[in-house]
Amino acid sequence: MPTNIIELKKDTEGKNKDKIYCTFCPSKILNAGAAKLINMDFALPYIHSKAEDKANQSETISAYWLIEDIYTFENIGLSHTVGNVKYLACADCERGPVGWFDLSTKKSYIASCRVKYE
Ligand SMILES: [Zn+2]
Repeated sequence: MPTNIIELKKDTEGKNKDKIYCTFCPSKILNAGAAKLINMDFALPYIHSKAEDKANQSETISAYWLIEDIYTFENIGLSHTVGNVKYLACADCERGPVGWFDLSTKKSYIASCRVKYE
């Protein structure tokens, strides 16, 4: 089994059992029960890296928390827009992207491996 798989705690409806926080600062992104885990492949650019050559690279992530309404977030920052997508970053420390917002469906997706749980 790949070592990057973390156990995600879900309730019976597939929603997050733990509160979701930024991995870099104490900012709370979502309350428990606010998002639903889905399997979907989407390539997100790497979080700020000191390696310049990685700046434009992305990695494919396949487990996302789906948030139907952007007002569900406790804190979230909107980053730059690329095509039909706006990247989401931490509202406090601005690190990201931690996920993306679909401009046409108005749904948000948070990468399960780019946040922490408490
Ligand atoms: Zn943060």
